[in-house]
Parts: sequence; structure tokens; C-alpha cells
Amino acid sequence: ENYLASIDDQRYLNIYVEVFADEALDRAREQDRQRQNGDRLGRLAGVIISIKDVICYAGHGVSAGSRMLEDFVSPYTATALQRLLDEGAIVIGRTNCDEFAMGSGNENSHYGPTRNAADPARVPGGSSGGAAVSVQANTCLLAVGSSTGGSVRQPASFCGLYGFKPTYGRISRHGLIAYGSSFDQIGLLSRDPADIALGLEIMAGADRYDATAPNRPVPLYSTAESSGPRRIAYFPEVLENESVDAGIRQTMAAALEELRREGHTVEPVAFDYFDYVVPTYYVLTTAEASSNLSRFDGMRYGYRSPDAGTLEETYKRSRSEGFGTEVQRRILLGTFVLSTGYYDAFYGKAQRARRVIQEQLRGVLAEYDFILMPVSPSRPWPVGKQIDDPVANYLADIYTVMANLAGLPAIAIPTGTEPNGHLPVGYQLMADLWREEELLAFVRRTK
Ligand code: GLN
Repeated sequence: ENYLASIDDQRYLNIYVEVFADEALDRAREQDRQRQNGDRLGRLAGVIISIKDVICYAGHGVSAGSRMLEDFVSPYTATALQRLLDEGAIVIGRTNCDEFAMGSGNENSHYGPTRNAADPARVPGGSSGGAAVSVQANTCLLAVGSSTGGSVRQPASFCGLYGFKPTYGRISRHGLIAYGSSFDQIGLLSRDPADIALGLEIMAGADRYDATAPNRPVPLYSTAESSGPRRIAYFPEVLENESVDAGIRQTMAAALEELRREGHTVEPVAFDYFDYVVPTYYVLTTAEASSNLSRFDGMRYGYRSPDAGTLEETYKRSRSEGFGTEVQRRILLGTFVLSTGYYDAFYGKAQRARRVIQEQLRGVLAEYDFILMPVSPSRPWPVGKQIDDPVANYLADIYTVMANLAGLPAIAIPTGTEPNGHLPVGYQLMADLWREEELLAFVRRTK
């Protein structure tokens, strides 16, 4: 009831596409009865969560922030969500996001922008913007989001939260609406990394519906402890890069200093491919998106234009009317880079670049436990300011897409508010593949 009142009081933030008020209350009351009876409760009994509007929940709408799926009701539940539900989690609603998770400001949603609770004139980040504000504005404890190139860490950082994406394959993608399948991962946002560790422990592991989620043992992330001094690497050019906000560079320098003082080894290392990170990410993800989104043809499910006479016209009109500008831009770009005659020059080359980027990052992580970086080069920008400048938006993804290109686990860590301002700041730590146990334990060491 407290969280529902909080949602009602803050409608202007536009956090939720839909609130499951009655259902959440019923489930909470049922758990309360079970508790009074002395029944055994799940590990998440009474825990109120939000789900990003790209995660399927049987019998509930899921729209991916798109007109295309405005009236779509999911016939099944995502594996990761089912595991949370089985432990008693209560879903309070589905959160607003950029259309098909494409964006960094939550401004590409069919339902309008979500606003940052620290400053409602500014964006909360994206694409899991509603997820971030759902925790920031105290409407739930834990938010389930998704990350293709930073959509959990960047909004978490813009809203002063922890935001975590696991190793690619650690959590099943079954029931997560696809954007770039070789990048997509479900992630979590919370005020406390302990919540994230427990959520991950419950969601992680093999799934017969997702062949990319291997049968690796799931460590007890929630009880893992960090031991001894760690080796932490950073890229010194980031500290000197004038296109990175000065306050963000200060935050990074202060974090490095503090870790040194704590007794960890903190050393500069080289990364040669900063110029290739964003182009590689946008060639590959738009290619995958153009293929994934071909299923929205106006015939099988989703929006169908009422004005179309022929089959051809049905395809064209349904997709033109159902998808927003940014989604159409990416479908065109992705179709282009996959076209005969361009495939080798763009898609093939980007695949090779991805491998080179991954090898260099993993080379660093063979010698160091973590890499420390900013989350974003910019602070939360004013709503509407960057909406017509896709390139500016894409470039701002530089530090988050690296983890997704390489499949690595990474977590955004809040450090408070900017020196002379009111906006949240923080940094991120990235670890080698399957090292989320050490990463999360390290982040929790002082808690
Ligand atoms: N901002 C990036 C993009 O627009 C990342 C989005 C995401 O992680 N879903 O592609």
C-alpha cells in the first residue's frame, strides 16, 4: 500500500506503463496469511519488484514501449521472472522504457518520457529509465531491467542506484523481448547490492528454453565474501578526455584514490580501440535488431494498420505506423549493413572488431580483477535536448557498450551527488566472464 501510494503521488514521473495494483495487494495479503499460519515462505516473500516492459509475464500486457505491441498480452512468463515469482516476489507493475530498448534517455517510448526523480526536467537515462526511477522514487525495492549496451548501468547511475548486468548467458533470455540477441541480458537495479546478489542467485542458471544459458553452477552470490586486496585497472586517457564531463572524471579519480588508500593495487593500462567501440556496437546491434524485428509484420501479432488493402501494404503500413522513428532508423541501418555487397565491409568487419575488443579487455582482466570506468561521459541531460541527435546519443554509450560487446559482467556503483550539484554520480566496475561472484562481493565489502 505504501508503494502504491508512492506511485499515485508521483504520476508526473511517468514510471509505469501499467500498475498491477489489485493483483499485487492480493498476493501480498495471501503471503501475509501464509506467514501468520507459519507456512514456509519463499526468499522473496513480501519483496516488491517492478519489471521493465520488455519482460513477458503470462496474462499481462508487454509492449516494449511500442505502439506495435500496445495491446499485446503475453501468453507465457520469462524464465528469470518465473524464478523470482516462485520465491515469492510481488510484481507491482511494468516500467516505461525506450521502444524495444533502443535509447539512452527513455525518450523513445510510445508512452512519453520518464523523468528523473532527482530533477524531473532531466532524463533518468535509458533504456531501463522507468526501472531506475521505480526504485529511485520508492515505488518498489528491486527493478528488473535489460541491457543490450548499458540500459541497466546507465539509468542506475543517472538515478543514484546500483545497476548490474551479468555475464552474457548467466541469466536466461527466454521471455525477454529481443533487441540484439548476442548482447541482450536481463539485469537488476537496486539501492543495495545485496538485493542484486540475491536476485541474481535466484534468476541465474541453465534454462531449457535458452541455449545460450549454459549449465554452469550458480554460486551463492548472496553470501559470497570479498577477501584481500584486489588488482584494479583503469584507462588513463579517460581521465584526460575533455569530452567526458569534468565532474565524472573527478568522481573516477576520487574512486581510484580511495581504492588505493584501501590497499588495493590500482594501475593504468592501455586500451587501443576506444574509437571502434561505438561503431562496432551500432553495426552489430542494428543488424541483429533488423532481423529480430522482422517478426512484427502486422500479420502474426501486434499492430495491424486498419487502412491497408493488400498484403504488401499491410507490411508497409503496419511497420511504418507501429514503429517509432528511432526503431525505424535502426531497422534501416541494420538492413543496410547486412545487404549484399555491404555485409563484408560492415557486418563482417564489425564482428572481427568485436573479437579484437573482447580479446584486449579479457587480456587486461587476466592480470587484474576489475576494470574501473565511468558509466557515461555525460550527466543526465534535459528532457528533449538530445532527442533529434541520434549520433550524440550513440556516442554517449561508449563506456557501457564495452561490457556487452565482450559479454562481461559489470556493475554501476553510486557515490553520491555531483560536487556542486544535485545529480547522482558514480562509476562502474567490470570483471572477467563468469566472475560476478567476486565482483558483487567486492562491491559489498564495505556494506
Ligand atoms: N543506449 C544503447 C542503445 O540504444 C543501449 C540500450 C540497451 O542497453 N538496451 O542501444
